[in-house]
Amino acid sequence: MARKFFVGGNFKANGSIKSIQGILDNLNNAKLDPNTGMLPLPAPVVISPPSIFLLTTAEKASNGIKVAAQNVFDKPDGAWTGELTVKMLTEHNIEWVILGHSERRTIIKESSEFVADKTKAALDGGLSVILCIGETLEEREAGKTVDVCCSQLQAVVDKVSDWSKIVIAYEPVWAIGTGKVATTEQAQEAHEAIRKWLASKLSQGVADGTRILYGGSVNEKNSGELAKQPDIDGFLVGGASLKPAFVDIINANL
Ligand code: PGA
Repeated sequence: MARKFFVGGNFKANGSIKSIQGILDNLNNAKLDPNTGMLPLPAPVVISPPSIFLLTTAEKASNGIKVAAQNVFDKPDGAWTGELTVKMLTEHNIEWVILGHSERRTIIKESSEFVADKTKAALDGGLSVILCIGETLEEREAGKTVDVCCSQLQAVVDKVSDWSKIVIAYEPVWAIGTGKVATTEQAQEAHEAIRKWLASKLSQGVADGTRILYGGSVNEKNSGELAKQPDIDGFLVGGASLKPAFVDIINANL
């Protein structure tokens, strides 16, 4: 199955009503690569503002752009102070969620099991998931990149059998927000290994059909070369998604 190019913009805890309106004006009016924006695989351009801006972003986004939450809880509505539930998102046309981002794994101390529980709850409730994985610099230098990524994925494999609504984002922690992008070879090598692992653990069909995005200091200058790699199916973009040049990253294949 051909994999459609996919680009996510992770605004993290950045933005104001005014700046997000500016980003939306830019994206809504941009000419986006039709191979990125076309059905039947929905929503290949997904932006993820802080939760307080989710509703207004979902109301104002057009041009085929969908909206993702940056987190969701794994339990139904109830006494969970500070959390958002899956139903709250789906009821408001938020169709996607980013889970397992390294900032949540390392700073908020989310375990792979918790990420897997949230992935299952999100999928069961009808959301699509951008599932982030990636190694630290120490782990890379110890030659553990693939082991770390695959063990993060294994936690989800243990709980989820249908991977059709999961997009994986491989984001080496040392490349996030540092300006140190992985080389095209490093990124391709990791993506290829992850895809092989998916084939061995799930099926060749899942491996061939699952999009694996690269994330970590992607910008309009490096996105073209990265996008040419056979196992890189798009990007999860942080800092550069807040800038007008995000459009150039979405159009990296043009
Ligand atoms: P960055 O962030 O593009 O700013 O490195 C990527 C991410 O954290 O998803």
